This record gives sequence, C-alpha cells and structure tokens, in this order.
Amino acid sequence: MDNIALARLLDETASLLEIDGADVFRVRSYRRAAETVEQQTIQLATLLAPDADPKLLLAIPGIGKGMAANLRDLVDTGTMPLREELLTKYRATMLDLLRLPGMGPKTVALVWSALQVSNMDELEAAAKAGQLNELPRMGEKFTTKLLKGIEDYRKNSSRFRIDVAREFAERISALILAFPGIETVTPAGSLRRGRETVGDLDLLATGPACEPDVVAAAVQHVATLPLIDNLLARGQNKVTFTLRNNLQVDVRLLPRVSYGAAMQYFTGSKHHNVALRQRAIKRGLTLSEYALVRLEDNKIIASETEEAIYNALDLAYIPPELRENNGEIEAAAASFSGAATGGLPKLITLADIRGDVHMHTTETDGTASIREMAEAAIARGRKYIAITDHSKNLAMTNGMDDARALAHAARVRQVNAEMEGRIHIFTGVEVDILAEGELDLEDATLAQLDIVVASVHSRFDQPKEVITARIIRAIENPYVRILGHPTGRKLLKRDAYAVDVEAVCRRAAELGVAVEHNAAPARTDLSDANLRLAKSLGCRISMNTDAHATGEMDYMEDGIVQLRRAWLTADDVVNTAATAEEFLGRLRKRS
Ligand SMILES: [Zn+2]
Ligand SMILES: [Zn+2]
Repeated sequence: MDNIALARLLDETASLLEIDGADVFRVRSYRRAAETVEQQTIQLATLLAPDADPKLLLAIPGIGKGMAANLRDLVDTGTMPLREELLTKYRATMLDLLRLPGMGPKTVALVWSALQVSNMDELEAAAKAGQLNELPRMGEKFTTKLLKGIEDYRKNSSRFRIDVAREFAERISALILAFPGIETVTPAGSLRRGRETVGDLDLLATGPACEPDVVAAAVQHVATLPLIDNLLARGQNKVTFTLRNNLQVDVRLLPRVSYGAAMQYFTGSKHHNVALRQRAIKRGLTLSEYALVRLEDNKIIASETEEAIYNALDLAYIPPELRENNGEIEAAAASFSGAATGGLPKLITLADIRGDVHMHTTETDGTASIREMAEAAIARGRKYIAITDHSKNLAMTNGMDDARALAHAARVRQVNAEMEGRIHIFTGVEVDILAEGELDLEDATLAQLDIVVASVHSRFDQPKEVITARIIRAIENPYVRILGHPTGRKLLKRDAYAVDVEAVCRRAAELGVAVEHNAAPARTDLSDANLRLAKSLGCRISMNTDAHATGEMDYMEDGIVQLRRAWLTADDVVNTAATAEEFLGRLRKRS
C-alpha cells in the first residue's frame, strides 16, 4: 500500500468519525495524519517492514504511537480496527453527502439508518421519490433545497477554493524545489490572478536543472513526487497529474530565457492575452509563450521577465489580479505614457490593513477568549479590532440577548484597559437581521456598542424585493455601521440570496454604512465584481476576517487578493485607517 492510499484511508476514517459525531480533536488528528503521510518522500510501508527500525516511523512529526499502530494495521491488513468498526455502521461514500446544504453528520447518519442511503445517487433517488419527506425535520422544502444542492455539487465538484489550491501549490512547490538546480516555482493561471475558485493548478519552475539539455532528470523528479495520485501525462518538459482530491496539476519546467514569457502566457486570462497579442501585432511584434518577437527579422525583443514584455508593448507592468481585460490594458498604457489620469490604480496591499472589526469569541461560537483574540491581532500587526459576537436569533451559536451583549461589552472594555494601549478593542455585536428587517437587539443596547455589524443568517429564500427591502430597512437603523457578508453566499456550497446588491450598496453609500468584504475563503463576500460595483456607487468597504479562531485572522491574505481584483486602493477601505480614532471617523456618525 503506497502513501497516497494510506492517506486516503486515514482521511476517510476522519470523515466516518465526523459522521459518528466524534470529538473534533480526534477527527483532526486523523486528518493531520493523512496530510503528513501523503507528504512523505519515503514510502511508509518500507518503514513498517519487519526488519525496519520502529523508531524511524515515530520520528515523523505528527505520528505518535497510536497512529503508528494504525499505519501498521493498514499496511499489514489493508484496513484497521477503528475503520472496520465504523464501516459496520456507515459507508465511506457518505462523506460526500456532508458537502450538501442541510446535511450535517447527524442527518447523514439518519438517512443511512432510515433509508440505507449511503451515496449521492441514492440520496438523489430518495429525494425524488419523496422518501425524505417522511423523516423528522425534513419535509418538502428540505427536499427541494437538497436537490438543488446535489445539482450544484455536481457542477462545482471540479472546482476548488483559492485557499485549498494555494495550500497544495505551496506543498507541491516545496517538494519540487527539493531538486537541486530548480530555483523558482511559481503558480500561474487563475490562482496567480486570485480568482476565488480554481479549476486546475499551473506551476512553472525554472533554474539550471530546467535548461533543455538537462531537463529530463528534473522531469523524472516531478513525475515521482509523493503527492501524485494519478500520473496523467509526462512530456519533454511538462508533467500532468492529479492529487488525492482530484485537483489536476500541470508542472512546466522552463529555461530561464523564456520564463517571463511563459509566466505571462500561462497566467492569462485568455481575454487579457488576446488583447495583448493584438496590441503586439499592431506594433509589428508577435507574442507567444516563448518570447515577444519582432516580425520583420525574428529578433527577440523580450522574454526573460514579464516587466520587459509589458514595457516593450508600451505598457506599465500589470499586476496579475487585474489581467481580465477589464480596462487594465488601457490604464497601463496611460500609466506608461505618464498621463495625468486614467492610469493603473495603486492597489491596496496587506500592509495597508490596520484593523479587523468582525470576529467572534467563546462568548458565542468562537474558540478563543477576548484576550487571546487581541494578542493574536497584535501578533499580526493590527492596531484595533472589534469583538462582534452573535445575537440571540442565531441560537445554534449561543447568541447573546440584550443583557448578555452589554455584559460582554463591559468585559471587552475591561480587557481593552488591560491592554494598556498595545491595541484598541472596540465593543460590538454581529446583530441578526430578522425576517422583516428588524434587528435582533434593542436600539438602547446597540447604542452602547461601538461597532454594530448587521448580517442576515436566516430566511435566505425570500424573493428579491423582499430580501432587498429587508436589508435596506436594517441598515437604516441608525446604530448599524457595517453590513456583514452582504450576499450570504458560501463558495461552492450555497448561492447568494436574491438580494439586489446595487440597490443595497446605493443606500449604504447614502447612509455612510460600510459594506463588508468578508475575507473568510468560504464566503469571499462581496465578490470582486460586486466590490467594484460598490466602489463605483461610493460605498466604503470594510474588510474583515470574521475569525472564529485566532488563526483565522490570516484570512486577510485571501481577502486582499479579492480587493486588488476589484481595483481597490487603501483609501477605499475603512480599516486601513492608522488608528482606532481615525477608523471611527470613517464610519457613519451617530447623532
Ligand atoms: Zn455572520
Ligand atoms: Zn460573524
């Protein structure tokens, strides 16, 4: 049994434990072990051979005695006792069902015990036959939503969120770079452009080992990387494979002389490249993945760097996030010619972000205390944060009523005083927008909190006019300063509700309410296109991580990419303000 097969079995066991309602830490230990195993360059089966030193296996970080015993069982017998025990209750295919809306571990276990449904096809058949309607808490509405979810799943299962793609890109790059003579590995394609989802991964590598006369050894190295599940193709300088999660990866090994041209070409987008090639032709040049060449004498004009290629086309360098043929070529031409207006924007960077004003603590559904969140924010260089726990309508998060919200705010003020100016902690709440646009807490309560984020967490199915009017009514409440995750979508899982984003943003701009870019990769809400729309309507943007754990504050890195794709500058974003006071000055005033 090879490492990939071992990793798959460990990962499946983690999912089966999840369906069984096991402790999250136990689930996580199996997931981590799966990741560790698939990254090993040596086959673990050889470390488990009878004559191998048992210490070698335990020397791998993350493999303790218990996991080592599991691995031994897997290698010896193809399975392990825990897995067998779980499989007497469940089926391995049931883990796919967890990705559907409304299908948590308990529901998956229920459809299995009641209907023996264990995979997507069976679930679809059961739903269409009306069998789910007879189960507790399901009904017709649930069935309709589920069938739509199955349809979406089939449509989306070949796409991956940007954070997932980036993580794999980093892991594969590290393995490729272990080969002596490969010096640079860069993702190209939609990952480099920062698209919110990615269909496949393009990695470009260069260095002395990638020169044409010696590249064969480097190709051999890439074609035998431990993460490979299926090797699909292997050419002179290109290797294509899939990973355990079916993500397809193309690795190209390129000589230095054409690296810039290849980066430009494989980064795309298609529309950007078409426009660029047309521009080249008008100048008597031709642009390919190898070089920018003058037609009359075949002289190479530029190839080693992207900058040189753009400059040779009378363009300023265009950041990858803008390469969608959305006006960036015209703007780059204006910048290059030194025109006073119409040039490329000075795009926002991560270093511009000073605050994070939407996050949760153990008071509701977060995993860290006020103080732990503050320390984590300080470690990331933030100057101010707001603690915005949930309100009571979101019962599953243990949301706060008025009294609790005020008591929590008092504790926030206390911790803020104890921080002695190292960071400013605003009081706040993420208050639920109820069905008609009323807010879940009293105005008298909201009036005492610094940052009121208002968000929709229920009744996603309302028609467009209803949900639009509902959100507008909510932000008209004078205490609301930020509209949280304005469209409610969950990437690759749940569509946005039917809200008229333009109407909401127009009203938010009039009121001075900031609209959120929720940087959590599962949300990415507003999207890049909607952010650009919001800016054009005069909205201020607040980018927040909605962190429910300290590590999630790093979502800023994902969010910044989307802001850049929307052409935003530091001035467009309220939490680039240098200090807490200056930040408050950018928000809606309270009379
Ligand atoms: Zn929320
Ligand atoms: Zn939240």
